Amino acid sequence: MEKPLTQHIVPGRAPLSLKEYEKVGGYQSVRKILKEMTPQEVQALVKESDLKGRGGAGFNTGLKWSFVPMGPNAATPKYLVANADEMEPGTFKDRVLLEGNPHQLIEGMIVAAYAIQASISYVFLRWAYKVAAREITKAIQEAYDAGYLGQNILGSGFNLDMHLHTGVGRYMCGEETALLNALEGKRANPRAKPPFPQVSGLFGKPTIVNNVETLCCLPHIINNGAEWFKKLGLTADAGTKLFGVSGRVKTPGCWELPMGTTIREILEEYAGGMQDGYLFRGLLPGGASTDFLVEEHLDLPMDYPSIQAAGSRLGTGTMIIMDDQTCPVGFTLNLMHFFAQESCGFCTPCREGLPWVERILLAIDKGEGKPEHLLTLDFHTKYLGPGNTFCALAPGAMEPLQSALKYFREDFERHIHEHHCPWSKAKVWQPS
Ligand code: NAD
Repeated sequence: MEKPLTQHIVPGRAPLSLKEYEKVGGYQSVRKILKEMTPQEVQALVKESDLKGRGGAGFNTGLKWSFVPMGPNAATPKYLVANADEMEPGTFKDRVLLEGNPHQLIEGMIVAAYAIQASISYVFLRWAYKVAAREITKAIQEAYDAGYLGQNILGSGFNLDMHLHTGVGRYMCGEETALLNALEGKRANPRAKPPFPQVSGLFGKPTIVNNVETLCCLPHIINNGAEWFKKLGLTADAGTKLFGVSGRVKTPGCWELPMGTTIREILEEYAGGMQDGYLFRGLLPGGASTDFLVEEHLDLPMDYPSIQAAGSRLGTGTMIIMDDQTCPVGFTLNLMHFFAQESCGFCTPCREGLPWVERILLAIDKGEGKPEHLLTLDFHTKYLGPGNTFCALAPGAMEPLQSALKYFREDFERHIHEHHCPWSKAKVWQPS
């Protein structure tokens, strides 16, 4: 299989310099679009490729771009933002791309910016990704020096500036409108949608926010075509995907594989199966804000419709594995502690509801739970679910909770009836 995203990434090796990257075909897509394609043709090709946003939501990338006003009367400047604020628990796929081949991201950003005719772009980077910050800074300078960024790129008349902006470590900034507020120097609360950023985004101007992995697909789609990209997928979904596995497996990691590779293949062949002495109990397929899947789902292909049909979401495609010696209550409590801490506090259900859920789970985990607590938790999965909060943070948090209550309900009941955690001898996480 050809590997469009990670082919020049060698773990432990410094990323390719601009010269090395050019030698292996780097920036060819930029030359191609500036010479041979109109922005509308780039948009149409990417729409046709069926590239879906790799940040977690899976929205068609070309379709999203098509909402940006084009033509002489469109508002300017337009902005492109690479969402590199990767903070979904268990997710580390963009980090591989950012540290391993920053020029590929810059190339993808030039393609996207050209397609929507943006003249200013930002890489919004997670604060903790220090190595990525260093490498991107270097790569942006190299791209300016070579004439891929700045005024009149390669003599085409197209202008694009690029800036690195480092966040301060808030999960909320991964939500595109909160990210835009943060870029404007405001508190990172989400904005109401509509208007979508495509029409009114950064400083009120048309803006596209795309995930790093999404952007890294673009040079390869331009160079090889929409059909080529579609055929990389094994099922209905197009392309390859970075899949990751963490938890008590033999070889946790991140691999680029065809979309539609089964969970079992990723878990057993790439992650090496469970560590000796541990059995598989469940997994979150795409980061912490997705529903648990269990043994019966292991042969499902990892693609958007298959995982959704099983009651979860592909999300970021980076799985967290739960083993038989980890308490499902403690596991879920750990996640709720994270989400409660990361709520921006703007809307009441999320600000008040998540800490309440956390307190109830803590009581159950300590053996102080009451039978009615389970009903309260069930209600909260609805109260904090889609449509009841301002953004997707709390509904995302309810996904692992509602599915833990479904698949591991006996474990919750045992805690309540036995007045202690059956795993209490094991090292169980406790919030500080
Ligand atoms: P969303 O579905 O609201 O939006 C996804 C994208 O599609 C956005 O760019 C949005 O502008 C666009 N869009 C959606 N509907 C549209 C419409 N009607 N018209 C025009 N554009 C439209 O999802 P979201 O809230 O942006 O993202 C939630 C996802 O993010 C979750 O699935 C979660 O898995 C993921 N996530 C990822 C990370 C990470 O670190 N990668 C962190 C947190 C959350």
